Amino acid sequence: MECPKCNSSMNEIKDTAFSALKCSGCNGIWFRDGSHELARSIEGIEAIDDVKTNAGAAYNPVRDIDCPECHKRMIKMVDRSQLHIEFEACAYCNGVFFDAGEFKDFTEFSLIERVKQAIDTFKSNVRT
Ligand SMILES: [Zn+2]
Ligand SMILES: [Zn+2]
Repeated sequence: MECPKCNSSMNEIKDTAFSALKCSGCNGIWFRDGSHELARSIEGIEAIDDVKTNAGAAYNPVRDIDCPECHKRMIKMVDRSQLHIEFEACAYCNGVFFDAGEFKDFTEFSLIERVKQAIDTFKSNVRT
């Protein structure tokens, strides 16, 4: 399978409870059939998205991509709780593509973000 962003080959991530492939070029990760939701709950899973270079960042703005399996145009998504995380999803096979480093971010709904959300909620309660 070829990476939808950089056309490098993608390799199956082995020994996991979900089905995903990682790009050998940009380090983006393709999760089959919405398996990123299952993957995110696995302890230590962020190790699969251990990015040592910034190579993937160049592909962040590349968002008009076709599903590597269905070859249909994918939908641009943002994570509801972390709006800076943008990813692409396929409406046909439910596959999801994360740029390098984004999946790791997705698994870490960080303490700072939780606190910020709590403060925002508090502020809006005070205002009303
Ligand atoms: Zn790639
Ligand atoms: Zn698809």
